Amino acid sequence: MTAAVRTTCAYCGVGCGILATSAGDRAVRIEGDPNHPANAGRLCSKGTHLGETVGLEGRLLHPMIGKRRATWDKALDLVAKRFRDAIAQYGPNSVAFYVSGQLLTEDYYVANKLMKGFIGSANIDTNSRLCMSSAVAGHTRAFGEDIVPASYDDLDAADLIVLVGSNTAWCHPIVYQRIRARCDAGAKLVVIDPRRTETADQADLHLAIRPGTDVALMNGLLAWCREAGVVDDAYLAAHAAVPDDFWNQFGEGSDLWSVARICDVPPQDLRRFFELFAAHPRTVTMFSQGVNQSIAGTDQVNAITNLHLATGRIGKPGAAPFSITGQPNAMGGREVGGLASTLAAHMDFAPDNVARVGRFWAAPAMATKPGLKAVDLFRSVGEGRIKALWIMATNPAVSMPDAGRVREALAACPFVVVSDVIVDTDTSRFAHVRLPAAGWGEKDGTVTNSERTISRQRPFLPLPGEAKPDWWIVTQVARRMGWKTAFPYDRPGDVWREHCRLSTYENDGSRLFALPRQAGLGNAAYDAMTPFRWGGTPFADGGYSTPDGRARLVPVVQKPVAAPLGQWPMTLNTGRYRDQWHTMTRTGLSPKLARHREEPLVEIHPDDAARLDIADGTLARVTTPQGDSLYRASVVDSQRPGELFVPIHWTDRTATGGRTGLLSRPLADPVSGQPGFKSTPANVKPV
Ligand code: SF4
Repeated sequence: MTAAVRTTCAYCGVGCGILATSAGDRAVRIEGDPNHPANAGRLCSKGTHLGETVGLEGRLLHPMIGKRRATWDKALDLVAKRFRDAIAQYGPNSVAFYVSGQLLTEDYYVANKLMKGFIGSANIDTNSRLCMSSAVAGHTRAFGEDIVPASYDDLDAADLIVLVGSNTAWCHPIVYQRIRARCDAGAKLVVIDPRRTETADQADLHLAIRPGTDVALMNGLLAWCREAGVVDDAYLAAHAAVPDDFWNQFGEGSDLWSVARICDVPPQDLRRFFELFAAHPRTVTMFSQGVNQSIAGTDQVNAITNLHLATGRIGKPGAAPFSITGQPNAMGGREVGGLASTLAAHMDFAPDNVARVGRFWAAPAMATKPGLKAVDLFRSVGEGRIKALWIMATNPAVSMPDAGRVREALAACPFVVVSDVIVDTDTSRFAHVRLPAAGWGEKDGTVTNSERTISRQRPFLPLPGEAKPDWWIVTQVARRMGWKTAFPYDRPGDVWREHCRLSTYENDGSRLFALPRQAGLGNAAYDAMTPFRWGGTPFADGGYSTPDGRARLVPVVQKPVAAPLGQWPMTLNTGRYRDQWHTMTRTGLSPKLARHREEPLVEIHPDDAARLDIADGTLARVTTPQGDSLYRASVVDSQRPGELFVPIHWTDRTATGGRTGLLSRPLADPVSGQPGFKSTPANVKPV
């Protein structure tokens, strides 16, 4: 038994610290790290069973060109050549990277630098686009920078916690334990979610709103707050820019009765929520995929930020809007600018920022405008405009909306590279080159969790076969493409220090994201780094990252919610199970985790089930305009009538049904580009 290694969980954005003790032959003991600020020693079921997922079964252990094993030199040479050739013949926007919140910050940094500074395109997007890009866009509109203005400590200080579109008990269990502890001490919990989830079951109040009516709800609450004198006019006057016509939007349709009708909730419940909000200045509104994964996701985020800004509930202990991220390092990706719509160090593509980052990188070909966001990226692949695509650590053939089209696009793409730990994924079947990446327990670098705490992921297992870290793989390709000195990294600490220097480079203090102390860390200090949260309490002084230092109230209007009709009389909602993660490439390896839900279920209200002659436990086929898939019916009154719920996890590899990605529409929020997974017109029939 070796000494325990301090690392971080591989799964969700809570970012729990783990003590991993290797017992040889890839056996490992997993415990919660009592000294990590995110979890203080606690772990949920997924984290607890991580030790069952580090075996080598199904691992990709050496590079492959087609179906043949290849040397690293041959594979890397081929990748560099095909990307160079495509760029020479069709230009820099003919190539793309699609990366992942599973990458470490160092991996993300190098991939982003190669694409945006050297290839000269911003065609690098990430599966985080599917997870929290509406929060990024909403924060940027409201605060001038993508800052999460809350921390877990705020949950300990809040008197009212409002969870919007988040089954926190299942999806962020350790944060939920913290919420429960606060509620046990007297705080109130309101859950806003169309489904009566386990989280909603334990709330003081559950508003099962009609899907897609969040803006009406939050605007209605804001209008009510104004009438009730809860709006903090002094805070607005000092710290916010309020458009002249902002309050005009709260006319007809904003009264409590109209909002109750639009949201389809009892008026007395709505009033209770409004009164709870008015009575508790220390309110945290935590939101997740139910808000973000919508074609109005950014507006929904800003309906929440408007509410907190207008009531002055931000920058104070226990008072903030709080976007909780799904993935272990979605936040680290945001810090390095790993989205097609951001540049680096929380900068956008304003000409000054492009020039600044270009100077820092001594970049020969800076991208000057945003690139293709995930849905458009795969659409472009399908249209033949992307000639070379590199997918890292993600499985878009399952997870993208309209996944059937994504598969067709991948099949037609002239050159697809997949870096992954798994030899056979639904996506890697389309790869011309497969590159074996380091997995959790082998990786070495940093991650940032939902509250901006940066922690180390550390290796405690040897790299198996010929697997290599992602930052190393990208570095080797960059050098082979001709940029040897610009990618001088020998270890992840080299990348980290450059990232930290960029975060403060020519920063006049207008950006909150800055890691000055970290920039000087030597390798020993990098290796010994303890978790730290950057940014303190954002906006505590009322200053925002906008040119005039004021936050923005953003007018947002509830869009009409289409009534289900004709061929598609139901509304399909998607989400996670407690014990599975994404497309199950890791959690699917744990027999204990499989016990919670052994197969994909379609949840349906008893009235609908009776009308459609669907019995509990029988097979049912869910159909949408995009495709169809089989599920086992679960008849439950936690569903709203007329609505269905299915999980996102199952794939071609794991089941004959439950392929939810085939069902969702490729429609995205116009501001953030985040796909609207949550409200798909659907039908369901017994089989
Ligand atoms: Fe891992 Fe998230 Fe569970 Fe913590 S809450 S142990 S980070 S899956």
